[in-house]
Amino acid sequence: MLKGLARWLRAAGYDTLILQDGEDDARLIARAVEEDRILLTRDRPMLQHRDARRHILLLHGNGLHDCAQELTTKLHIDWQYRPFSRCMLCNSPLEEATERQRRRIPQVMHGNGLTLYCPHCDKLYWEGSHVERMRRHLQRWHQGDFRAD
Ligand SMILES: [Zn+2]
Repeated sequence: MLKGLARWLRAAGYDTLILQDGEDDARLIARAVEEDRILLTRDRPMLQHRDARRHILLLHGNGLHDCAQELTTKLHIDWQYRPFSRCMLCNSPLEEATERQRRRIPQVMHGNGLTLYCPHCDKLYWEGSHVERMRRHLQRWHQGDFRAD
């Protein structure tokens, strides 16, 4: 569930790492400290680590929307920060696609919006119904509406 929340943070443009299951707590925390990140968790024992106070945020909410609301209050998240500015797969900042890259997208798929490109994944992103739905979702959270669909 926190992975889902992490994906929404990334969609909103926040620099967000999504961790593999089963990584060692102490290493995760060390990395959070080193990279000056905040580790989101539902795992209370994590708070017992030495550096926990400044780098760990324990979420109590039930389900995605509850946790999103809790996170918004605690960290002042702006869900309209920089929507769709990062690659959903790898977190890299996206660039505007060149004309040549755009040509890889079938003509029928071209929307009106910008086409963006991830240099790390060699993946193109363009405005479509999926992005449209995600924009509406971010908009709702931005307006403080955290009701589940
Ligand atoms: Zn990428």
